[in-house]
Amino acid sequence: MNRFEYARAADAGEAVRLASGSAMRFLAGGTNLVDLLKENVERPTKVIDIRRLPLAGITATDDGGLRLGALATNADTAWHPEVEARYPLLSSAILAGASPQLRNAATNGGNLNQRTRCYYFYDTAAACNKREPGSGCSAIGGVTRIHAILGSSEACIATHPSDMCVALAALEATVRVQGPSGERSIAFADYHRLPGDDPSRDNQLADGELVTAIDLPAEGYATHYTYLKLRDRLSYAFALVSVAVGLRLDEAGRIVTGRVALGGVAHKPWREPRAEALLEGQAPSQALFLQVADSLLLGAVGRGGNDFKIELARKAIVRALRQAAAGTPQSQTDKRVA
Ligand SMILES: Cc1cc2nc3c(=O)[nH]c(=O)nc-3n(C[C@H](O)[C@H](O)[C@H](O)COP(=O)(O)OP(=O)(O)OC[C@H]3O[C@@H](n4cnc5c(N)ncnc54)[C@H](O)[C@@H]3O)c2cc1C
Ligand code: SF4
Repeated sequence: MNRFEYARAADAGEAVRLASGSAMRFLAGGTNLVDLLKENVERPTKVIDIRRLPLAGITATDDGGLRLGALATNADTAWHPEVEARYPLLSSAILAGASPQLRNAATNGGNLNQRTRCYYFYDTAAACNKREPGSGCSAIGGVTRIHAILGSSEACIATHPSDMCVALAALEATVRVQGPSGERSIAFADYHRLPGDDPSRDNQLADGELVTAIDLPAEGYATHYTYLKLRDRLSYAFALVSVAVGLRLDEAGRIVTGRVALGGVAHKPWREPRAEALLEGQAPSQALFLQVADSLLLGAVGRGGNDFKIELARKAIVRALRQAAAGTPQSQTDKRVA
C-alpha cells in the first residue's frame, strides 16, 4: 500500500476544503476503496474520511420525490419503507448486488463511484489506460467475458459494475454534488462517462467534488417494474447483463411511458430514449419488446469472449419487459435476512 495522509471531515464544506489541491480519495464505506489501496491500484496522497458527515438521511423533496443521502448505506436505502413502497425497482437492484455484510457497509455515494471490475485494472502488472493513462488496454485481445458491448472505445472496453446505478438511470435520478465552486446537480444520464480517449475518468465529478445526495423524482414505477440480473452465480457476483424496467400503464393496459436501462454492457448504465419511445401508446407484446431490444442493442459489438452478451441482453430485455408489464418482477426476497 502507498503511504498517504489521512484526514477526517465533520461536514461537507470541510471535506471539500480538505480535498483541494491533492491527489485524494474520499473514504465512505471503504468496501471498494480499501481493496484498491491494498492492491496499489489507487495511490492517493490523501484519504479524506467522510463517514461522519451528516449525509445519511432519506427525506422527502419539495417536488414529491425522495432524497437519498450519500452516506445512507445500501441496506438502509433498500429497506427504507418509502423506497420499498414507492421505488421497489431501486430496492430490488440494490438487493441483487453484493452481500448483506457489504450492503450494510457500502454507501450510496460509494456505489455511484465504485470502480470497474475489469481484471486488468486490478492487475498492476498489466497495461491499463484507466489505471495508467496511455499505457494501453490489456483487455482488447485478452479475456473479455465481462467487458462492454456498447459505447466502448479503442482505449477501454470496461463496464460499470453497479446494480444500483442501473435502477437510478431508469428512474431518472439526479446527483447532487458539492465542490470548490459550490453546489450543482447532474442528471443521472450524464453522471457516468463513456471511455472515449480518457477512460481514467469514470464520471463527470470535477476535482474535489463530493456527492452529497441522490434525488429520486416523484414517479417511481411502483406497480410495473423489474430488475433482472443475469450472472455466473445466483449470488455474490456482478452482472453479466442486467435490465431495469419501469412502465406506466393506462387503464386499458397500454404503455404510457417506459424506461429501460441496461447494466453490465457499457462503461455506464445504458439507456436509449429512441428505444423507450417505441413503447409509448403501445399494448405490451412480444413483437414490441423484441423491437425495443433491437433498438437498445443497435451498434452492439462483441470482442470474442463477450459475444454471447449480445443475444443474452436481447433475451433479458424481452423477459424484463414481459415481467414488468405483467407486474411480476424478478424476486429478490431471498435477500431478506431474518
Ligand atoms: C465482494 C464484492 C462483491 C460486490 N458485488 C457487487 C454487486 O454485485 N453489485 C454492485 O453493484 N456492487 C457490488 N459490489 C461493490 C459495492 O457495492 C461497492 O464496493 C460499494 O457500493 C462502494 O461503496 P462504499 O461506500 O464502500 O465506497 P468506498 O469504497 O468508500 O468508495 C468507493 C469510491 O467512491 C468514492 N466516493 C465514496 N463516497 C463518495 C462521495 N460521497 N462523493 C464522491 N466520491 C465518493 C471513493 O473516493 C472511492 O473512489 C461488491 C463489492 C465487493 C467487495
Ligand atoms: S478495459 Fe479499461 S479498465 Fe480494462 S484494461 Fe482496458 S483500459 Fe483498463
